[in-house]
Amino acid sequence: MSDPSRLPRTVVPSRYELTLTPDLATAAFAGEETVTVTVGEAVREVLLNAADLEIGAVLAWDERGRQVAARAELEPAHERARLVFAEPLAPGVWRLRLAFTGALNDKLRGFYRSRYRDADGVEHLLAATQFEATDARRAFPCWDEPAFKAVFGATLVVDEKLAAVSNTRVLETRAGPRPGTKAVRFADTIVMSTYLVAFVVGELEATDPVMVGRTPVRVWGMPGKQPIARFGQAIAAFSLEFFEQYYGMPYPGDKLDLLAIPDFASGAMENLGAITFRETALLVDEKTATHNELERVADVVAHEVAHMWFGDLVTMAWWNGIWLNEAFATFMEMLCVDAWKPEWERWVTFGVSRAAALALDGLRSTRPVEFPVTAPKEAEAMFDALTYEKGASVLRMLEQHLGPEAFRDGIRRYLARHEFGNTETRDLGEALGAADVMEAWVFSPGYPVITVAEAGGRLVLAQERFTYLPAPADAGRQRWHVPVALRLQAGGVVRTEKRLLTGTEERLELPGALDWVIVNAGGHGYYRVRYAPPLLGALAGHAAAVATPIERFNLVNDAWASTVAGVSPLAEYLELTARFRAETDRNVWTGLIGSFAYLNRVLDAAERPRLQALVRDRLGPMVARLGWAPRAGENELTRQLRGDLLGAIGTLGDDPAVQARAREIYRGDPTLVDPPVLSAAIAITAFAGGPAEYDDALSRFKTARTPQDEQRYLYALAAFRQPELAAQTLERTLNGDVRTQDAPFVVRGMLMSAYVRELAWRFARTRWQEMAARYPPSAYRRMWEGVVGLATPALEREVIEFFRTTAIDLGGKKLAQYLEQLRIAVAFHERTPRLTT
Ligand SMILES: [Zn+2]
Repeated sequence: MSDPSRLPRTVVPSRYELTLTPDLATAAFAGEETVTVTVGEAVREVLLNAADLEIGAVLAWDERGRQVAARAELEPAHERARLVFAEPLAPGVWRLRLAFTGALNDKLRGFYRSRYRDADGVEHLLAATQFEATDARRAFPCWDEPAFKAVFGATLVVDEKLAAVSNTRVLETRAGPRPGTKAVRFADTIVMSTYLVAFVVGELEATDPVMVGRTPVRVWGMPGKQPIARFGQAIAAFSLEFFEQYYGMPYPGDKLDLLAIPDFASGAMENLGAITFRETALLVDEKTATHNELERVADVVAHEVAHMWFGDLVTMAWWNGIWLNEAFATFMEMLCVDAWKPEWERWVTFGVSRAAALALDGLRSTRPVEFPVTAPKEAEAMFDALTYEKGASVLRMLEQHLGPEAFRDGIRRYLARHEFGNTETRDLGEALGAADVMEAWVFSPGYPVITVAEAGGRLVLAQERFTYLPAPADAGRQRWHVPVALRLQAGGVVRTEKRLLTGTEERLELPGALDWVIVNAGGHGYYRVRYAPPLLGALAGHAAAVATPIERFNLVNDAWASTVAGVSPLAEYLELTARFRAETDRNVWTGLIGSFAYLNRVLDAAERPRLQALVRDRLGPMVARLGWAPRAGENELTRQLRGDLLGAIGTLGDDPAVQARAREIYRGDPTLVDPPVLSAAIAITAFAGGPAEYDDALSRFKTARTPQDEQRYLYALAAFRQPELAAQTLERTLNGDVRTQDAPFVVRGMLMSAYVRELAWRFARTRWQEMAARYPPSAYRRMWEGVVGLATPALEREVIEFFRTTAIDLGGKKLAQYLEQLRIAVAFHERTPRLTT
């Protein structure tokens, strides 16, 4: 028990009786708790977690009423309190009563206060909690580790005019101890972890409940927001029912509230029965939102509801297992949204998320999905694409390998076996009966590239670890159990085949002359494919006819990865992109546009006109074909594709005609324009605009009616290219105009902009102390991720020097990953400064 970041298990809590009295006006709170604990062996000291709290009187009594007093010694460095008793507590059941006080902070963690303005500019106050990973200890002294599960019986004493919400339904509301206050008592929770406890107090209003079985589902938001709460409520109700059936187990809570919080550090938080969201992830106007904006709400809501079982009912034993929660919730989110709106083709779009994980996981400085975690800060750094998207990709691959029903039955076994408990990764592997296949994907870093060649009438498949920079020395020994699905045409006959590639190489007899082959058929595999040039040529020639959208996306994405890795020349990739001028799938275009944006950052600035011409050449035909308005009966994905293509050709392609038309649309009546086109017009107008457009976008930002509208104009402010306008936006990230929940993301975007990155870099470097004082700590690493866009040799040197001389702990391997991504981009630049050689 020498590890100061872990608590001893000699004293174990089973129930917290907790009363909190937050005062929004003074940003302070008082609390009192009685914790029932089981003392395993006689102790004079009890260790528990507390941070930024003052602890007053402490008293313990046993079941016969024997009382022992204690004093609390705080250990700020370890975020602990040591209760030192006058005499030892004998083994048995004790109750500990603690009184404490704290401040409602403005860092969006622990128990915090949000100060926001409504559309009329009137200021309001709200208090909310965000405890994951380890900030419950900032609201009340507790055993703040996921394996110390307990029952929570909470009471909130608040201003009688305010709403108070917690994890469970309200048992009773009485008059509070002071005039004008009320005491709201909530029902006991299930046995659960501290990081899932939630309190929200403010001027919030709820929708009418939708009943799913016996569970009322409501959405809470600022007054007047109910009309834009319906979409989120609909997917919440659908998810609840979907998961009860999939998991074969009822919802573990007694009500389900979803709350839109004006200031929120992450996307959302799966507190049992009281899920909190940033507004953009829950509230949306169906009529004016783009497909992307609707999909985001559906995704996040389904994800959080999936957690009510996966994470809340069954919880990882320690933070190294966080992927168990997050990968599963991400996988389930796809499954659920796909069932809700099959026309969205959610699993195809998931290819883009899988690609993001492959990009990060192709670094030498990647980490395994499951990774040893000791200090809390390292737990925070685990919330990344490896935990979410790689984890979910591996689960999808496994599901396809085992078969959907066998996989679901394994999940049901796992949940039934471990409900109200904590688990390790091996428990899941056992329940699924797939421990062998899972092993390397979860416990070793990186992933394989499958090389494909033809030799002597055979197909030769081989695996080796994929990295952009030369692989680490021990990578040569890494092997995965790779479920490989193939579709090929030989001698004019198409056939499919499934293999589990476990060794270095495997050979496959071909039945005749090979016409083409697709490896990773269906696109579920979490690996890359590198075809020998003749095979790539043959496949590219047939792709439009024989490859599905996800397979075409993978073809483009894998070819691009080979280019970034320096394995194949840029010219070859650009040639490949020319074959996709008539492409109709939005994801394939997302891949192509993403690669053009990358080139815009790494090529010499003098090359820009040529790159713009290339973008116009590739996108032009589809832009012309789709036009500016939807046709009757057109689906949502095509409408979004139109917006994506217009946005790209108007910015990356710098197309003057598109820019002129975009400006007209921007100035016109927004209700007459399809939302994806309007959203593109706003981005293009900012990109091509000047001071007049800036002032206009600023006023639209300040008076936006929906969270999505606000986001569009906020990011528009970050897209102006004139230095004096960019400087204004940067200043707004610190002067209160941009909320601290958004500011770090705005700075990140500007650091990654080929046009204003140097300005943003100078700003971030010189104003960092101010930023660190204002922004939520969990956002530091998200903001600094922007340095990967500073892709010139000179800027790279400055970045390295800055992080060498400035102490910024981004947690885990984040900094090493950013610097490596920057190195890869600069190496690309050094190798290929120009588009054509
Ligand atoms: Zn999650």
